[in-house]
Amino acid sequence: MVYTLPELPYPYDALEPYYDQETVRIHHDLHHKGYVDGLNNAAAKLTEARAAGDYSLIKHWERELAFHGAGHILHSLFWENMSPSGGGAPQGVLAQQIEQDFGSFADFKKHFSAATVAVEGSGWGLLVWNPHADRLEIMTAEKHQDLAIWGVTPLLVCDVWEHAYYLKYQNKRAAWVEAWWNLVNWPDVETRLTKARNK
Ligand code: MN
Repeated sequence: MVYTLPELPYPYDALEPYYDQETVRIHHDLHHKGYVDGLNNAAAKLTEARAAGDYSLIKHWERELAFHGAGHILHSLFWENMSPSGGGAPQGVLAQQIEQDFGSFADFKKHFSAATVAVEGSGWGLLVWNPHADRLEIMTAEKHQDLAIWGVTPLLVCDVWEHAYYLKYQNKRAAWVEAWWNLVNWPDVETRLTKARNK
């Protein structure tokens, strides 16, 4: 198996009170693991299809590859984007780039929250580096893989699948997103921006 579940970079209860340990445990150990397993399975099935020369289920396994692959990538980023000592505002080059592309941090935050809360069904809010325009963009994803632009680099992601918040926040998605800002690991986001801009 090529893909493995990354360990959480902190204990299950480290993000309390904004992110309850029960949700973190289920989200990481069961949901994220499900995407890793699904991705490995899709890759194995595609290998089998090539070996057998049987492409009768190719559409299904290509879909599985995209769904679980994107799910694995976004969850890996999601955990690293949060920290027990997170929150506040970005500094340095990230703060400068946000001001340049969105006017101000306050305007960026309002736009990101509005877009993320408005995702239809299950999905994500994302801050991405767009190398086609050399700028940051706020994007949303339905499921994990829909509505993407090819080639952008996700820097900061907020999970708004119900599994991400329902135990503590029930149907109050906006309250989850508001709480999530208190966990954002801005130095991690800044490091990702610097790498993406230098590619
Ligand atoms: Mn999730």
